[in-house]
Amino acid sequence: MRVLVTGAAGFLGSHLAERFLKEGHEVVGLDNFVTGSRENAEILAGYPGFELVEHDISKPIVIEGELGGILHFASPASPVDYLELPIQTLKVGSLGTHNALGIALAKKARLLLASTSEVYGDPAVHPQVETYWGNVNPIGLRGVYDEAKRFAEAMTMAYHRYHGVDTRIVRIFNTYGPRMRPADGRVVSNFIVQALLGEPISVYGDGSQTRSFTYVDDEVDGIYRLFHASYADPVNVGNPTEFTIRELADAVLAQTASRSEIRHLPLPADDPKVRRPDITLARSVLGWEPKVSLEEGLGLTIPYFRTLVDRGEARARTL
Ligand code: UDP
Repeated sequence: MRVLVTGAAGFLGSHLAERFLKEGHEVVGLDNFVTGSRENAEILAGYPGFELVEHDISKPIVIEGELGGILHFASPASPVDYLELPIQTLKVGSLGTHNALGIALAKKARLLLASTSEVYGDPAVHPQVETYWGNVNPIGLRGVYDEAKRFAEAMTMAYHRYHGVDTRIVRIFNTYGPRMRPADGRVVSNFIVQALLGEPISVYGDGSQTRSFTYVDDEVDGIYRLFHASYADPVNVGNPTEFTIRELADAVLAQTASRSEIRHLPLPADDPKVRRPDITLARSVLGWEPKVSLEEGLGLTIPYFRTLVDRGEARARTL
């Protein structure tokens, strides 16, 4: 099959594109390199079945030739990025999703939308089950990402119901692993880079807020299975083991043998207090559950950041 991956030079997009290439598919990787990296595109360019198109999916584009699938992963995804790029984030979630769905309709291709646990906002239901509608502040700083993704889900379901486009929606929970940018700004990359540099660990608030961290290989495997499954409603794909941010800091300090101190910074507005996926649906529909614990996943991720730190290329990025 020939598939289009939007955001193919991003962290998740590049891992997913590589999975399709390894399974013998051809991949057209589209990216405008706003938050994607040239290094990731170069890794993909090592496969004969890969083709790069430098373009912003928020603007219409014609892709020549047949397509069997579209994986719509283009978007800034780290809070520090989407706070700096609020309009582009809204545009890629809305216009970008519309354009991607238009290509899916024209090519009779299956489209999988990368959605997010952020659609649940600061959740009043815990753990989060797919039937929960969420608690999002539309005019808050995070609203640019959350509402763009909520619109993207609505648009995807409309194309599915009205045009009969074959669609999938994955709700991705906090994912980490090699290929994250060191200055991505998210908590796992920040803490590892800070620990390796011996800089203070930037815990926002008192660190009692929780997240559930998924290692990238697990996430990609769940997404790959969902693409091939027959299920159009949203599916949570995330590791249901929940940690406080303070616990994450302690785990990173222990595994890096770092003596960095903890420094508390103000908690950002609307920062969700808890987050954990209910994965009953993923278990039954995809036969999927995560295999990699946080400890193992950090063990697989730290060497990647250590290489960048040793080369002098790594700085954390705080809000
Ligand atoms: N966080 C933190 N220090 C950092 C970055 C993030 O304490 O340097 C916290 C943030 O306040 C949030 C959690 O870690 O509660 C996860 O933040 P991240 O930006 O990774 O993703 P989010 O889940 O908020 O989209």
